[in-house]
Amino acid sequence: MSGIFFTEDEIRFREEVREFAKRVIAPQAEEVEKGMYPGPLLRKIGEAGYMRQLHPIEYGGSAKGVVYEIIVAEEIAGVSAPTDMSRTASSTLCAIPISRFGNDEQKRKYLTPIIRGEKIGAIGITEPNVGSDTAGMQTTAVRDGDEYVINGEKRFITNGADCDIITLFVVNPDVPAKRGMCTFIFPTDTDGFKVERIYGLMGMHGMRIAHLRFENCRIPAENLLDREGMGFNILMDELNTERISIAGEVIGVARAAFDTAVQYSTERVQFNRPINRFEGVSFKIADMATQLDAAELLTLRAARLVDRGERAGKESAMAKVFSVDYAFEICNQALQVLGGIGYTTDYPVERYLRDVRIGMLGGGTSEIMKFLIQREVYREFELKAAMEKRTVPLEVASSSQKGETPD
Ligand SMILES: Cc1cc2nc3c(=O)[nH]c(=O)nc-3n(C[C@H](O)[C@H](O)[C@H](O)COP(=O)(O)OP(=O)(O)OC[C@H]3O[C@@H](n4cnc5c(N)ncnc54)[C@H](O)[C@@H]3O)c2cc1C
Repeated sequence: MSGIFFTEDEIRFREEVREFAKRVIAPQAEEVEKGMYPGPLLRKIGEAGYMRQLHPIEYGGSAKGVVYEIIVAEEIAGVSAPTDMSRTASSTLCAIPISRFGNDEQKRKYLTPIIRGEKIGAIGITEPNVGSDTAGMQTTAVRDGDEYVINGEKRFITNGADCDIITLFVVNPDVPAKRGMCTFIFPTDTDGFKVERIYGLMGMHGMRIAHLRFENCRIPAENLLDREGMGFNILMDELNTERISIAGEVIGVARAAFDTAVQYSTERVQFNRPINRFEGVSFKIADMATQLDAAELLTLRAARLVDRGERAGKESAMAKVFSVDYAFEICNQALQVLGGIGYTTDYPVERYLRDVRIGMLGGGTSEIMKFLIQREVYREFELKAAMEKRTVPLEVASSSQKGETPD
């Protein structure tokens, strides 16, 4: 997309990341697709400095912000989506809570090695009985002297079988729901920690998505992030950036599918002409180009808002749900442009289609994104209505608005 939307520095940065992704990640993409876990590539990504953008300079970050994060996500996912998924699980999902809520010692000990790619991180939210309804979490942490004792299970954990630490969300069983949620930095060499199984996946081959068990795991109290009861706030803060990052990833994959379809449509000849001469094909390309730019703009808006310090919950949800829906559609239409060969593994488009599908699930499902968007829409509607009522004479307003203030 042109310089109207990205600054000169952002465009230069994108070119650097693109060159790195082509030179270092692309040669491994085939092996990853065949099942090679991409975790070891994180060291190279860390050395190149592409895990730094969301983190403070004093701990090894570059503090460039979320726009730079989506540029990295797009460019790395465009050549190997599982590699970027592994990267984001570590330096985005696991690291954001430490970066934003950790103390100096926690950041030095855990954040810096993750940013450098020396250690691998994961985030532990989902459980067998807890998916969308995160407030119903069942894994517990009970204080015992200078330690907490952790018991429970987490499932679908990206990097879970191979990581050094997990940013782990748990509850204090004595405090109900959201108010009891706490976040810990959990070292995976703790006794009682077990990788129970690795799931087979539709796409994102190479990723090792794990089911984890915690049995009387004792970790030092100093591994608590912020304070008890802050877990839900930490989670909501992390999810906002995660959603924008996922939007960047799927845009990167969709752009790769789009580029493949454009090129193929100029080379493939049927009825004595390249197939792009048929509107049935070229109008698909027009739709894909428009959808890609729309997804990019929504994602850029959310990223710039978060970089400005705004919460942007609605905008992040919009960016994610729109980008994943259209990324899936773009990959599907790209496959159609390629015809039968698109369905084979001779071209990567069938892989792109399988890889982007996770976007509708991870970081909150598309249904949950729509729930969040409509909730904000009605909140804004109520707020506007309440503000309009303020213009009503004071004595009328004070009687009619009793108890109706929007939360
Ligand atoms: C490959 C992969 C990697 C993952 N990585 C991680 C990770 O690293 N860490 C982690 O913690 N989790 C991870 N997850 C888990 C992921 O975030 C969850 O799968 C997701 O949040 C949905 O939870 P669930 O699967 O339990 O679905 P459920 O919550 O059981 O939902 C099932 C269906 O019901 C719908 N639904 C539920 N509630 C509502 C509602 N109120 N309104 C409308 N519809 C609703 C959902 O949208 C969905 O369609 C990963 C998942 C996968 C597949």
